[in-house]
Amino acid sequence: MKSEKTIGVDIGGTKIYAGLVCEGKIIKSRKEKTPESRQGVITLLGDLIDELAEGAKVKGVGLGFAGYVDVEKGEVIFAPNLPGWENIPIKRIMEERTSLPVFVENDVNCVTLAEFKLGAGRGKKNLVAIFVGTGIGGGIILNGQLIHGATYSGAEIGHITLKLNGPKCGCGRLGCLEAFAGGSAIIRSVRRKVKAVHEITKAADEGKKWAILALERAGKYLSLGIANLITILSPELVILGGGVIKAAPRILEIVKEQIPLMALPIAMKGVEIKLARLQDEAGLLGAALGVEQRLGCV
Ligand SMILES: [Zn+2]
Repeated sequence: MKSEKTIGVDIGGTKIYAGLVCEGKIIKSRKEKTPESRQGVITLLGDLIDELAEGAKVKGVGLGFAGYVDVEKGEVIFAPNLPGWENIPIKRIMEERTSLPVFVENDVNCVTLAEFKLGAGRGKKNLVAIFVGTGIGGGIILNGQLIHGATYSGAEIGHITLKLNGPKCGCGRLGCLEAFAGGSAIIRSVRRKVKAVHEITKAADEGKKWAILALERAGKYLSLGIANLITILSPELVILGGGVIKAAPRILEIVKEQIPLMALPIAMKGVEIKLARLQDEAGLLGAALGVEQRLGCV
């Protein structure tokens, strides 16, 4: 029914962004600082949902968590930036609290779903989305469906290994894509007093060799990671987003140059590379869209 609405909530380590959504548009929204305790987050979620649902016909709530999520059971398995969130049956807790159907998903998967339905991926069926920020996250849609894998950790694109005995990654392993092309890794690689990637872009624009080389190295490793994904999955589209891509447009240029040289030619045929279109609201929108998908409305 057209008048029916959904609520989407994006739950990150620093902020919680919740909105009432109708036909892909946010009607009203609230942004709050993430409480420190788990109970504080649960209480806030209940209050935000009550407030947004007031006077509206809401068919369900989607929660997007920055962490590993068992989407079938609706449990947060582990969330590195949310203390105390281990094996928490948040679907059951919030359904009891709100009396609404609740669905749970990983936050980057939510962003991927939003780009697929409303952003750069509209009209496609097979795509890979990669978001390069401090770290690197990703989502994969095949035949119109997000892939989760057996342990719900699928599409951890930042942690594909690109070099034996490479630099140490935040996950504890060596040589991950994130350890070469994530924002923190790029900054670390220049070994200078640099705090943000845009400072490296500025130096590269001024012709500084160290900066040009740092962006090239990151761009080439990112290209290698993407080329491998193209070879394995044969997507129609690769969506690139995140703060590092915005701060260093040169990386996108390198990716466009390099991946046709690296991916299997047949899989590379016709693959488009596009920038993500949605902004801050993508996680919230994707969480809301997930409700429609799970209820079988779209
Ligand atoms: Zn890693």
